[in-house]
Amino acid sequence: AKRKLSSIRKSDAKTKDGTVIELLANIELPQDVEVVKGSGAVGVGLFRSEFLFLGRDTLPTEDEQFEAYRKVAEDMKGLPVTIRTMDLGADKNPKWLNHDVADNPALGLTGIRLCLAEPLMFRAQLRALLRASHYGKVKILFPMLNSLGELKQSIAQLDYAKQELHEEGLPFDAEVEVGAMIEIPSAALVVGSFIKHVDFLSIGTNDLIQYTLAIDRNDDSVSHLYDPVHPAVLKLILHTIRTGLKGGVPVSVCGEMAGDPRLTRLLLGMGLRRFSMHPASLLAVKRMVLNTHLDDIAPIAGRMLRSEDPDKIADLLQLLNVEPD
Ligand code: PEP
Ligand code: MG
Repeated sequence: AKRKLSSIRKSDAKTKDGTVIELLANIELPQDVEVVKGSGAVGVGLFRSEFLFLGRDTLPTEDEQFEAYRKVAEDMKGLPVTIRTMDLGADKNPKWLNHDVADNPALGLTGIRLCLAEPLMFRAQLRALLRASHYGKVKILFPMLNSLGELKQSIAQLDYAKQELHEEGLPFDAEVEVGAMIEIPSAALVVGSFIKHVDFLSIGTNDLIQYTLAIDRNDDSVSHLYDPVHPAVLKLILHTIRTGLKGGVPVSVCGEMAGDPRLTRLLLGMGLRRFSMHPASLLAVKRMVLNTHLDDIAPIAGRMLRSEDPDKIADLLQLLNVEPD
């Protein structure tokens, strides 16, 4: 019989063969931590920090940001809190930014590009994140990278911020973990070059699907073509997971795919061991994890990943999700 979702809240997310799976929560604002605590998540896998910057007339100061990040770090009591640097520009354009929205905003000055173009703004955030790292287990994640050069420039800005804080005598975690979001196909294809510069990778499938398939993730007229199991998308995800794990770098998925229980077994079969999702999805995904033996799913997942035929992939996905008696 199926276990009630509420009864598995406290149990570890372990497959039937005993493999521990990390289930983390996505948040948008510091107060979301309350929901995370009741969700059974073992940390925050994605704090979309740009929400602190929206709906206001001015840029938040370094101190305001520090207080927000510190609150989350402290509230999570030593559990990891992965904070993504501001991912503005495409669909999120606060007034204070004075950003000319281009004809093609999703291909414009967004995410890390915007941060690297505004180094003072970026560094204030990095300083706030570092200062918060003294109060809990903060990890820093860079969004929308498309090349090794952008990753190196981002790390150089972080090093500069560390140096400043050091000189000012302000405490921070000198070993703070740094991660790269893989959400542009170019980054997925050259992910091998990122490995030695990062402590972890996080796959942003929402954007990865959009940019791989040339489907606007917010355009209803093409939403039927937005296909998370398109073979091209699966190849990029698989390559990222395998390259990360081979290089000893943990990989998570933090896009919507991670919270869809119909895709849990597929992602497990691809080698994924860390999922970050909206807290409301966590128990349904956990139930799938508890009901899965990795040896049982491996052959079907393997066939899915070798196929380039969408119909066959759809059939195999159904087969993969048949519950054992
Ligand atoms: C993603 O792109 O999958 C992601 C997690 O980031 P966002 O949805 O905030 O763009
Ligand atoms: Mg994204």
